[in-house]
Amino acid sequence: MAVKITDICIACGSCIDECPVSAIVDDDSNPTGEGTYYVYPDKCVECVGHNEQPACASACPTDGCIVWSEPGKSFRDNITSDLRDGTHPVMP
Ligand code: SF4
Ligand code: SF4
Repeated sequence: MAVKITDICIACGSCIDECPVSAIVDDDSNPTGEGTYYVYPDKCVECVGHNEQPACASACPTDGCIVWSEPGKSFRDNITSDLRDGTHPVMP
C-alpha cells in the first residue's frame, strides 16, 4: 500500500509537508541515491483516513510524477492491483 515518486520528480518540495504520516523524504535523504523525493512504502497509508486523495499527488505540479505501487497490496478500495505496476499516475 503506497504511492511512489518517479524519476520525473523535479525536487520542488511541494509534497513533503502535505504528508500526514511523514512518509516522504527529500532528495538529500532518498535511500536510493536518486535526485528525487522518495516515499517510504512501509509508512505511506495512501492518505486513507486523512484525505480523499493522496495529498502528495494533489500538491505535485509535475504531471504523472506520483504513481500507485506495491502490486498485491491494495489499500484504497477503488485502486485495483492492475493499477499498481508503477506506471499509473495517482492524479491522471
Ligand atoms: S499518499 Fe498520503 S500518506 Fe502516502 S506519501 Fe502521499 S501524502 Fe503521504
Ligand atoms: S511535489 Fe512532485 S515534483 Fe515536487 S518534490 Fe514532490 S514528487 Fe517531486
